[in-house]
Amino acid sequence: METYKMYINGEWVVSSERKLIDVKNPATDEIIARVQSASKEDVQRATKAARTSFDSGIWSRMPPGERSNILSKVANLLEQNMDTFVNIEMKNTGKSIKQVSGYDIPYTIDNIKFICGASRIMEGKAMAEYVSDGTSAVRREPIGAVGIITPWNYPLMMIIWRAFPAIATGNSVVVKPASYTPLTAIKLAELLEKAGVPKGVFNVITGPGSSVGEELAKSKDLEMIAFTGSTEVGKRLSELGASNLKKVSLELGGKAPFIVFKDANIDAAVESAIVGGLVNNGQDCANSTRYYIHESIFDEFVSKLKNRLSKLRIGDPESMDTDMGPLISQSQRERVESYIERGKNEGGNILLGGDRPSIKGHEHGYYINPAVIYTENENSAIVKEEIFGPVFTVLKFKDYEDVIRRSNDVTYGLGSSVWTSNITTAMRATRDLRFGTVWVNEHVVVPSEMPWAGYKQSGHGASLSAYSLEEFTYIKHVYFDLTGKVRKDWYSQIFKG
Ligand code: NAD
Repeated sequence: METYKMYINGEWVVSSERKLIDVKNPATDEIIARVQSASKEDVQRATKAARTSFDSGIWSRMPPGERSNILSKVANLLEQNMDTFVNIEMKNTGKSIKQVSGYDIPYTIDNIKFICGASRIMEGKAMAEYVSDGTSAVRREPIGAVGIITPWNYPLMMIIWRAFPAIATGNSVVVKPASYTPLTAIKLAELLEKAGVPKGVFNVITGPGSSVGEELAKSKDLEMIAFTGSTEVGKRLSELGASNLKKVSLELGGKAPFIVFKDANIDAAVESAIVGGLVNNGQDCANSTRYYIHESIFDEFVSKLKNRLSKLRIGDPESMDTDMGPLISQSQRERVESYIERGKNEGGNILLGGDRPSIKGHEHGYYINPAVIYTENENSAIVKEEIFGPVFTVLKFKDYEDVIRRSNDVTYGLGSSVWTSNITTAMRATRDLRFGTVWVNEHVVVPSEMPWAGYKQSGHGASLSAYSLEEFTYIKHVYFDLTGKVRKDWYSQIFKG
C-alpha cells in the first residue's frame, strides 16, 4: 500500500511528527493508502514557502501568458494520466466510474483550460482623466500567499476551482484537501512539478481540519483563505482569519429547491430530479433536495419519481452498470439516516427507501437506498437543513407567491431550479429566487465560463468564470500627475501659505 508524502517548497516530505492518516475506500471500508498528518511546524514551513515564493516575484511577476503556458501543461498531463486519476478518485470517493470518467475528470480539465485562457485577459477597468490634471488607471494584482481548504465531495475539482484561479493570477498557495480524500491533491502536485511550476508556488499539506486547517487560517504568512466546505466551518474560518484580517472567500452548503409548476413537462422534470438529487451519490452542494410540486400534479410526479428510482442500480463503483455508489463514510451515512429519522418524527411520511441495501462483495461499504419523504411540515429539519445525502423531500404548493416564499425561506442560497413552460413564470422566478444559480427546466449544469456563487449563508465570492480570477486579486488605483507643477492649484484649498 502506498504512503503519500506532502509537497512543500518543491520537495516531497514526511510529517515532522511522523504521523500518518489512513485513507479508505468507502465502497469496501478497506484502507487503500496512507498520507501524512502535518504538524504545526509543517504548516508553518508550507506557509513560509508560499510567502517566500510570492515575494520573490518569480511567479507573481511572470507575464500571464507565460504562467498560463505552464499551467496549460497540467491540463495536458491530466489528460495523459486520466486513467490514474479516475481510478484513484473513484476508489477514494465511492463515486461510480461512469461519473468520474465521464464527468468529474474531463470537466475538471475543461475548468483548467478555461482558467488558463481567461487569466491572460485580466484587466483594470479605467485609464482616463477623472480629474482635470491627472490620469487614473486600475491595476489588478495577486493577493499574495493564499490558503486553500477543500471538501471531500469533488476532491480534485474543488482544488482546481480554487487553486487554479489563484495561481493563474500570480498567487502562491498552500492546499489542504479533506482528510477523507487527499490522494488526487497529492497526485496533482506531481503534475504541477512536471509542468515546471516554480518551487513554493503550489504546496500540498495533509491532515485534520481541526489542527492543520485551523493553523492555516491563523497563519500570518497568508493574506487570504479560500474555503469550500460546510457553512459551520466557514464561520469558524471567518473568525480565525480575523486575526490578521485575511480575505476569507467562502463557498458553502446549499439546500436547493426544485420547483415544478403545473404547466411543466413532468417527465423531463422527473428525469432531472433523479440526476439533480443523486449526482455524486447525493453529496453535491447543488443537489436538488426540496421538491416543491404543484398540488394538481403532485401524485403523478411522485409516482413517476418512485418508479424511476426503483430502477436505480446501486453497487460496485467500478462497474459501468452502477448508477450510485456508497456515501463517503460511516459517519456521513449515520448523519443521513438521522435526518431521515427526524423527518419521520417531525411528521414526514417515508414513501420509499432510506434503508441500507445489501451489496454482494461490498457488505462493509457505506451504502444507503435513496429516500423519498413527503412532508407538510415546512419547519422540519429535512426541509431547512443540508442533509448531504440522497434524500428527496417532496412537498406540495398551491400558488406562485407561496412557493417562492417557501423556497427562499432557508439560510442557504446556492442552487435552485424552476420547471415551467410559461415564459413569464420562468422570468419572474429567475428574478425572485434568492440563489446564486437559477436553472430553468434543468438542474446542476455549470459551464466553466459561468460563475458558481452563493447568496446568504452559502457564502460569497465566485468559483469558475472570470469572476473567480477577480476573487484572487487586489485592485490598485494608480494616479499620474499631468501638470508637472510644483504647487498644483487645488493645494490652496488646504494650505494657502
Ligand atoms: P467540511 O466543512 O467539514 O470540511 C471542508 C474542509 O475543511 C476539509 O478539508 C476539512 O478538513 C476542513 N476543516 C474542517 N474543520 C476545520 C476547521 N475547524 N478549521 C479549518 N478547516 C477545517 O465540509 P465537507 O464535509 O468536507 O464537505 C461538505 C460540505 O461542503 C457541504 O456543506 C457542501 O455543501 C459543501 N460544498 C460546497 C461547495 C460550493 O461550491 N459551495 C462545493 C462542494 C462542497
